[in-house]
Amino acid sequence: MKKNSLRFNLIDHPLIKRDITIIRDKKTGVELFRTAVRRLSNILAVEINKDLKLKTISVETPLEKTKGYRINQEVVLIPVLRAGLSMVNGFLDVIPESKVGHIGLQRNEETLLPFEYYFKVPKIKNSSRIIILDPMLATGGSASEALKYIKKKNGKEIFFACLVAAPEGIRKLNRKHPDVKIFGAALDRQLNSKGYILPGLGDAGDRTFGTL
Ligand code: URA
Repeated sequence: MKKNSLRFNLIDHPLIKRDITIIRDKKTGVELFRTAVRRLSNILAVEINKDLKLKTISVETPLEKTKGYRINQEVVLIPVLRAGLSMVNGFLDVIPESKVGHIGLQRNEETLLPFEYYFKVPKIKNSSRIIILDPMLATGGSASEALKYIKKKNGKEIFFACLVAAPEGIRKLNRKHPDVKIFGAALDRQLNSKGYILPGLGDAGDRTFGTL
């Protein structure tokens, strides 16, 4: 879906609306927060992979042989540490054959620019589908940096999956990485002066890991 010329796929579904409300609520505790994020990630995984390549196979039911399918494209999930970890299990529920890489980015306190402190991804093939996981697309600074690293490692078909996005972050990715398809469960109003999304849900990492 396009809104104000933003290239952003907003997943519109009653179950998404219900779970986004749960994770926004400041009264929601860690356990419920995690289960709602997992369900949201299940739905994102289904939507993002509508066009995943399949191979036709034969399968034998208890009654006869029939046509079946097997996934014929490697999927590599890459959570951006630390909050991106919250989405991994929800994606693995739906595509358990996925490989998982990790990318850790930190902000240099002087330059305020993100730099990589951890990067471990499986070998990426030309045909691999890469899905970057990061629940909050805020300024787009670390997302853009993560995408730069993935592209250096041969990432060609890249998706960015988030729960909540701000227009500022979407605009940045649209400009710097026009080839990357962004999927999200909510499109929020704006960033505040500290780079938090409004209305948002606060710090996704803290809310997932109970480090508030
Ligand atoms: N990261 C978060 O966890 N929350 C925001 O609102 C923005 C970035």
